[in-house]
Amino acid sequence: MIIRTLYDIAEMCGGELSSAEDKDIEIKGVVTDSRKISPACLFVPLVGDHFDGHHYAAASLAAGAAAALWQRDKGPAPAGGGVILVEDTLAALQKLSSAYLGDIAPRVVAVTGSNGKTTTKDMITALLEVQYKVHKTQGNFNNHIGLPLTILSMDSDVEIAVLEMGMSSRGEISLLSRIAPPDVAVITNVGESHLLQLGSRKEIARAKLEIVDGLKPGGLLIYNGDEPLLAEVLAEPDFRTPEGLLTFRFGQAADNDDYPTGLMTHSAGMIFTSQLHGQRAFTLPLPGQHNVINALAALAVARHYDVTEENIAAGLSGLKLTGMRIEVIETESGLVLLNDAYNASPTSMRAAIDVLQSMKCSGSRIAVLGDMLELGPEEIMFHRQIGSYLDPKLTDDVFTFGPLAAHIAAAASERFEAGHLFAFTDKEALITALNAKCSEKDVVLFKASRGMRLEEVLHRLKDHS
Ligand code: ATP
Ligand code: MG
Repeated sequence: MIIRTLYDIAEMCGGELSSAEDKDIEIKGVVTDSRKISPACLFVPLVGDHFDGHHYAAASLAAGAAAALWQRDKGPAPAGGGVILVEDTLAALQKLSSAYLGDIAPRVVAVTGSNGKTTTKDMITALLEVQYKVHKTQGNFNNHIGLPLTILSMDSDVEIAVLEMGMSSRGEISLLSRIAPPDVAVITNVGESHLLQLGSRKEIARAKLEIVDGLKPGGLLIYNGDEPLLAEVLAEPDFRTPEGLLTFRFGQAADNDDYPTGLMTHSAGMIFTSQLHGQRAFTLPLPGQHNVINALAALAVARHYDVTEENIAAGLSGLKLTGMRIEVIETESGLVLLNDAYNASPTSMRAAIDVLQSMKCSGSRIAVLGDMLELGPEEIMFHRQIGSYLDPKLTDDVFTFGPLAAHIAAAASERFEAGHLFAFTDKEALITALNAKCSEKDVVLFKASRGMRLEEVLHRLKDHS
């Protein structure tokens, strides 16, 4: 974590010490949540639509924070510790993190994309940390607040920072990539998430490509070559191509720089070979072809940093992911639950259905699919497409949850026989029906947008078994 004097912190964030006597106070770490104050930390009060951290500054100092930032327009600063006066606490936090990153100067790998950022970030880290000291974004701390906090929690001897960059509208990735200028930028894919805010998939592609705004000269862009929109935007005459941009394309298509040449599913995941690695077979302890594609991006980063093939293979096979990304849970009774309830968009829902439908199973394959939110005016069409995507030969029963997901069931009814589709809007009724339906040897997939909290259903099912 950041360790600096209050004087240095004031310089780094462009603020002013309220009292010069406090200049030697030693700061260890930065906290924005007053419930998580640690000894000698700097408390940064953020201002949101429904809260103002300045109300908690005095209590934070009393609880052990050594100092606090304080926005000038918030009246007199509290006593009880050092204070740095700033115009805007969020901008100061971002500036501080950027300055700290510049000081400790690790290589920066930035990961964006509609789906697979966290997964790919975890994979990249697993491969690099065999040879380097790596710090990665914890969980999903990928926005204009999470990214600065991630940076400020890094130790000063980190060699490579692997940072997830998320967005919901134009300009956000640009800001993040300028806070943490990447040496390597990765775009996992372009999906339909945030279509509501952005209007079209091309706009989403433009938003992802903002990741090159902060790219260092001679930096490398690793992107999904199966998405034509990325190549189109890159070729636009007004696209601001960074100096010395190097590119590398990965994906399924054979004209990409790297692509899978062989794929095999096994009980706990996948085995694959790729164009650039000849006969070498890599074991991935995760189901889903989409995860092989994510792994190709991670392989490209690892190769860029000269990780040996042996270390790449070892890193991949020992992979541990952030929870709820297609977690395979086997209950005591033998029921297999695929927990992908973390979030959903049409692209990721199709990927999860592929996983369910390719699982070996002597019982029934059951899909429990909830609403996909924030898809804009075409939301019904997107849900209907999922209904048509489900294959009645490979999926036995479909349970939908929510008013939008009901359109999945409606579209699926054109090919599924009656008695295999169940649409619910009441969670308790869904839990009761699933508990009645599921038995040992079944495989059950759970997938929905975050707002649906579908994991609550999974947990009630698991407890029951
Ligand atoms: P968020 O925007 O919420 O941070 P993320 O981009 O970090 O999401 P992950 O958390 O890695 O994405 O994965 C979320 C889900 O997306 C996974 O559970 C999986 O279903 C799906 N997914 C992951 N990688 C891909 C991919 N390359 N293509 C399509 N779907 C994917
Ligand atoms: Mg994520």
